[in-house]
Amino acid sequence: MLVTKHVLLASTVHATPYYIVRGMRPGPVMFITSGVHGNETASMAAAQKLADDCATGRHVIQRGLLIIVPRVNQQAYAKKIRGKPDLNRTFPRRMSGKAKHPLAAAVFQLAREHRADWWLDLHEANGLSQLSSRVLGQTLITNPGSRTTPACRRVIKRMNRSIAIRDRHFNLKQHELPGSARTAASRRLQARSVTVETCWSLKRSTRIKYQTKIVHHFLREAGMS
Ligand SMILES: [Zn+2]
Repeated sequence: MLVTKHVLLASTVHATPYYIVRGMRPGPVMFITSGVHGNETASMAAAQKLADDCATGRHVIQRGLLIIVPRVNQQAYAKKIRGKPDLNRTFPRRMSGKAKHPLAAAVFQLAREHRADWWLDLHEANGLSQLSSRVLGQTLITNPGSRTTPACRRVIKRMNRSIAIRDRHFNLKQHELPGSARTAASRRLQARSVTVETCWSLKRSTRIKYQTKIVHHFLREAGMS
């Protein structure tokens, strides 16, 4: 297995590393982004850990191509803020539309170049969805009617079986969010796109564990590991 490190928007203020992991055999392309919001640190840690585990051989990608951008918005990450403007409103909205931010444009172009079949965008959010349907903490989000929905339901089922505390169970949300990576990936690239949201009031190590497990479940769903 081969892992190569690259830099997106090199020599600009937005420069950010990304990794390409080549599986043992050909197969689907999965694109994983994290740090679209700079203060969602457990998701970034999980994405970086996946890249590191692939590089050291701790995790093996059997089939396909895995592309990981662990900290999309480096400037926001440096300040531990969500980021202004909100990058997750700047991805292309219409078929012919352009991204409204150089980072969103570069990330989207990278996914398009590699013909991403899957796009997991890792985030963190407020609250526990099990206790209130109005919050996004502990959810997987897809676009309404997405063909990714059955896989999301299976992943949620597997996750919840392993989580003893019921309040922390994951739920599915279906939501169209114009300008988000998820909606752009689904509408423009016809990718199976999912936003992963852990609750950031949980312990950091727990959040990293949940993010990591979810990504691994999706890699299996895609037949990649
Ligand atoms: Zn977020």
